[in-house]
Amino acid sequence: MEKKSMHPESLMMSYGYNPEWSEGAIKCPIFQTSTFVFKSAEEGKAFFEVAYGKREQRSNEKLGLIYSRLNNPDLEILENRLTLWDGAEDCAVFESGMSAISTIFLEFLKPGDLLLYSLPLYGGSEYFIKHVLDKFGISGVYFKTGQTKEEIIEIVKNTGKADKLALIYIETPANPTNDLIDIEDCKSVAQYFSTSEKEILVTVDNTYFGPLWQHPLKFGADIVLYSATKYIGGHSDVIAGAVLGNKTLIKRVKTLRTFLGNMAGPWTGWLLLRSLETLKARMDMQARNARKVSEFLIQHPKIEKVYYLGFLNESNPVQYNIFKKQCLSGGAMISFDIKGGEEEAFHFLNKLKLIHLAVSLGSTESLIQHPATMTHCDVDDEEKKILGISSKLIRLSVGVEHYDDLIEDIRQALDEEDVLKGIDIYDLTSADVQTV
Ligand SMILES: *Cc1c(COP(=O)(O)O)cnc(C)c1O
Repeated sequence: MEKKSMHPESLMMSYGYNPEWSEGAIKCPIFQTSTFVFKSAEEGKAFFEVAYGKREQRSNEKLGLIYSRLNNPDLEILENRLTLWDGAEDCAVFESGMSAISTIFLEFLKPGDLLLYSLPLYGGSEYFIKHVLDKFGISGVYFKTGQTKEEIIEIVKNTGKADKLALIYIETPANPTNDLIDIEDCKSVAQYFSTSEKEILVTVDNTYFGPLWQHPLKFGADIVLYSATKYIGGHSDVIAGAVLGNKTLIKRVKTLRTFLGNMAGPWTGWLLLRSLETLKARMDMQARNARKVSEFLIQHPKIEKVYYLGFLNESNPVQYNIFKKQCLSGGAMISFDIKGGEEEAFHFLNKLKLIHLAVSLGSTESLIQHPATMTHCDVDDEEKKILGISSKLIRLSVGVEHYDDLIEDIRQALDEEDVLKGIDIYDLTSADVQTV
């Protein structure tokens, strides 16, 4: 069987690694080394010529490793495996999602350029646009979820700098409200402003849906990126990032990465290789749990509204059509409005026993937080109102626990009386654990 025709989840344990390279070890070892020995001076010269772009790799030429800032087996194998999910030609991994994002901005924007981005955006990305790109004379203009292609084109024209547009940067589903943006529409906007000399690129931060549930490159995006800290890592124990696209673009990204020095280290690479083996199993289970939890939340009298993509239907045709076209799952991120305000929200959050009160998402354990005072505390009040980030909004990242236990935890935290009173998840004894 042709390996390429297999499903990505079948290849996560083996793709790109040959046990013969490591004494038959079934697992790729951690290549904890800073540098690699050349067989001869001629070989060293050849590797450098290609790495520094002095000449192209010859058709039958085999290149070797040089130095772990440029390449390392754990990173290269990880990059090859990551390309399988998105159907990308190439991939570059980073020591954090933010280093992936900032490298994209620095590589594809220059002083005087205009960046078009979607709101809401991950706080770190918005900070980088407003406070760092601004220092380099790069301006940003935003559109909001729900705006049409025509409205977005108007926004760009109204800046008076439409000829300077260089990059469109979006996040869909948007955090924390799960609003969707049509990637094909963004590509049309990019094409509208592109000229024969300048192609405007579309980049999608696909962190919220991981590499399984949405494949932006198939809808015309040029670059897709991830905070690999989230679903890809999936165990709340590593910070990392990844960028994917065609060979030409990723070559540019890797070149800047070499000189910024923000590549992932071998240990991070190895941890992510390990995580990738269970990516499909984890995400399937998280999506199933998210549906069960959403179904419980929506019928609960203390819950006002549930923002869960699996509930979209004909009553919201614009969002539903994007969902049907672009999304392969309802995902595992749920937000909901609790009746009341901050006081009721905090009371509920403080009563949870199993679900952890922490930011981040996409992990094996369920994580819950209060966007208005936590992840989105920096967003000004007017903008919060427009984005629907109120004091009663709670964001939940659903993990792989048994959904009955998640639902029971939420039920007791919403109830007046303390059903699970006295049980602390950090202090569970065997008496509290169900046998199967
Ligand atoms: C977490 C996150 C980031 C930043 O990633 P780090 O790995 O924390 O640097 C970027 N975008 C989104 C959508 C995220 O959730």
